[in-house]
Parts: sequence; C-alpha cells; structure tokens
Amino acid sequence: MIFVPYPRVKNSKTIAVFSVYAPALVSLAPDLKKAYRNYRANKGSPAVVLPLNYAQAGKVSPAQKTELDKLYASTYKKLKENHRHLDWAYDLRKADNLPYCPMCGNTGRDALDHYLPKADYPEFAVLSFNLVPTCTSCNSKRSNSANAPRSPLPLIHPYFDGRRLSSPLVVVVIDPDKGTTPPTYLMPSFRLVPAIAPTDGLFARLANHLDKCVDDTQLRRWLTGRWKLWRLKAPDYSTLAELRKAIDRELQAEIDVGGMNNWTAAFLRGLLVSPSVLQWMMKHPPS
Ligand SMILES: [Zn+2]
Repeated sequence: MIFVPYPRVKNSKTIAVFSVYAPALVSLAPDLKKAYRNYRANKGSPAVVLPLNYAQAGKVSPAQKTELDKLYASTYKKLKENHRHLDWAYDLRKADNLPYCPMCGNTGRDALDHYLPKADYPEFAVLSFNLVPTCTSCNSKRSNSANAPRSPLPLIHPYFDGRRLSSPLVVVVIDPDKGTTPPTYLMPSFRLVPAIAPTDGLFARLANHLDKCVDDTQLRRWLTGRWKLWRLKAPDYSTLAELRKAIDRELQAEIDVGGMNNWTAAFLRGLLVSPSVLQWMMKHPPS
C-alpha cells in the first residue's frame, strides 16, 4: 500500500538478448513484447490481462516456462559479466531504501513478489513492472492465491496505483479489553481497516487487498510495540491537545520517511481519531 516508482528498466533489452542466453524463448519474443505492452496499458489488472496460455493453449510451452523460471531464479545473485541484463532485479530485491513493505505496510522487506503470480503468468516472470519488493510474511501469505486470472478485485499495485497511495487509505482501530465498561485498554486488539468510504471506487479492492496481504500476527506484534511506547509517553502530557500535537508531529515524520499507509502511520492516525483511548492512556501509566 506504499507507492514505489517502478524500476527504470528497458524490458525490450531483456527480450533482445534471449538469443544469447535463453534460445528457447526466442520464438516467444514477439508475444512477450505484446504481453508486456498489454500489462502496462492495463496496470497489470488480472481482470483484463489474461495469461498467454488462456488466449492460446500451449503458447508458452513447458520448456519455455522452465526457461523463464530459470531466468527469475538467476536474479537471486549478481550475474556473470555476460548476463548482467537482470542485475536490476537483484538490486530491487536487495535495496534497503524502503523502510516499509510496499504491499502490506509492514516494517522491512526482503523478498520480491510477482504481482501477477508466475504460476498463472509465466510470461511476466522477469518483467520489471510485475516484480515488487515485499516482506516475506505477506509474500508467503499471498502465495498464488491472489490476483488469479479474471480476479475482479486486483490487489493494490505499488507501481500503478501511486496517486491514491499518497492519500490515507488505512487506519488502525484500537479495540478495548473485552467486556469492559467503561472500556479499559490493558491488552487492546488492533484492526487495520480501510479509511475510505464504502462508496469509494477503491473500497472493495482495498478490503480484498488487506484480507490477502496483511499478516495479522505480524501486525499485532508490531502495533503492540508502538502501543507500549505511547502508553509510556502519554502520561507526560498534561492536556489532550498537547498529546495529539505530539502524535501528529510523529505522524508527519513517519509519512515523510515511510509513506502515507505504512502500519505506524495507520496506528498514529488511529490514535488521533480516538480521544477516549488517549484520555485513558494519559490517566493510566503502565505499572
Ligand atoms: Zn508485506
């Protein structure tokens, strides 16, 4: 859910050197070029972009699929001098300039994900637009279950949904301890939910995205840490307005560094819209 500019890569160059290192793919080159253009024109939407093998059974042969898998596997390491055409994918996986996972908003990232799964779409195995840096937990949660061909609700695309990703899309709801009146927050629970109206055209896609991409265990672990931190800080403020100002300042810094929709930003937004939670925190320093 975090915008990332797509890697500046000449995909046509990747195709152009197939004759040298992937001869099995040479006959597929014209179809790949067309498929790449189609992907870009339709922002990778699985509702519109269908696998080559759907349009024509056997278009990508088993041998060609194996070859494409091998090319992708080679991006795990820096390639030898004559195979440097895929080093960008290696760099994309290794780059540590993203403090949060672009797909789920979790802290850190150390995997590459095929936005359109390569099991269904082998033709996009090494297409730059289709390779998105992600964290390992959401990558394994999605597996091949998301963005299946004809899926009417494409996941949010960090490269192509940029404009919307610069506005607040998610917020953390902080639920009190079960059955407490008035509510207490000794061990609250956290839910990451859409911060946009159900009438918004993006709502259904976003809800599906959260369902498919957010690892609830990771989310709880990360937010429990943020929660403990603010429970320690809150009693130091004498008025609700001062506490809110401090949270807002941190929110702005967090957005600057990690984008509008990372988990910490969503949590801080959740605090700002919950004065009763803040008032409870101010009055109940952790023992
Ligand atoms: Zn993630």
